[in-house]
Amino acid sequence: MESDKRGLGVLYLCATPIGNLKDVTLRVLDTLREVDLVAAEDTRRTRRLFTRHGIHSPMISYREENREKAGARIVERIEQGESVALVSDAGVPGISDPGYHLVRMCLEREIEVQALPGANAALTALVVSGLETRRFAFEGFLPRKKGARRKALEDVASDRRTLIFYESPARAPDTVADIEEVLGDRKMACARELTKRFEQVMRGRVSEVRERLLESPPRGELVLVVEGFSGEVRLSEREALEEVRRLREQGLSLKDAVDRLAGDIPGLSRRVLYNQVLKSQE
Ligand code: SAM
Repeated sequence: MESDKRGLGVLYLCATPIGNLKDVTLRVLDTLREVDLVAAEDTRRTRRLFTRHGIHSPMISYREENREKAGARIVERIEQGESVALVSDAGVPGISDPGYHLVRMCLEREIEVQALPGANAALTALVVSGLETRRFAFEGFLPRKKGARRKALEDVASDRRTLIFYESPARAPDTVADIEEVLGDRKMACARELTKRFEQVMRGRVSEVRERLLESPPRGELVLVVEGFSGEVRLSEREALEEVRRLREQGLSLKDAVDRLAGDIPGLSRRVLYNQVLKSQE
C-alpha cells in the first residue's frame, strides 16, 4: 500500500454496503485486502462482508465507546508506516458515526486520508423519495428528547431544501408526529431497509406516513426525507425581527407582536418566530 514521503501510512475511508453485500466497489475490496489493519465499527457485520468476499485482513474495533483509545493506537500504527482502512457499520465512514474523530486525529498529525466512495443511506433514500434533489440538507439523527427534537425541527422549519433525517425504528412514529406538528403536513418519504430484501419506501403526506407507522410499527433501518418549506415568505427573518422590534416600541407585548407578524409569514409557526426573536435577544 501507499506511504507518504515521510514513510507514514495512509488512512483509507472505505464505504461498505448498507444492506446488499454486492454494493461494494472493487477498489474498496482491493484496499480491504491489502491494508495492514482494518478498523471496523461493527466487527461482526464487517466479518460478514469479509467472508462473502474472501478477505482475511486483521481487524480491530473502532467505535464511539473506544474512539479515543483505539484512535490513538491506529494513529500510532499509521505513523509507524502501516496503512489502515476504516469501515463503519454500514455506508460511508464519517457520516453519523465516529469516523469523523479519527479523520481529525489523522489530519492533526498530517497523516494522509483518502476516501473511497460507495453506498450511503441518506443519498439512496433521497433519490428514491421523489422529492426535490437539487438542494438538500442532511440533518443526521435528531435529538432523542422531545423538547430538543422539536427545537431542532424549528431550526429548519423555513429551510427550502429537502430535509434528510436518520432515525431508529422505535423513535420514528414520535419523530414523524413532531415533524407534522412543527413542519406541517408536507410531502415526505420513509425509506426502510434500503437495498435489502424487505426494502420499502412509503411516500405521501407526513400525516399519512405517521398513520401507516402507527398501524404497523416499522422494523429495521430507516431514513426520513421531508419536503423543504414551500410557503411564501413575505418577510425575511431579519425583516421579521426588525418588525417585531418596531411593534414592541409601539407598546405591543412580545406575544402580541409575534402574533400579528406570524400572519405575514405563511407556513412559519408563531412558535418558530417567537423563538427566533428570543434567540436574537440573547
Ligand atoms: N455511515 C452510514 C451511511 O453512510 O449511510 C450511516 C450510519 S448511521 C449510524 C445508521 C443510520 O443510517 C440508520 O439508523 C438509518 O437511519 C440509516 N441506514 C443505514 N442503512 C440503512 C438502510 N439499509 N436502509 C435505511 N436506512 C439505513
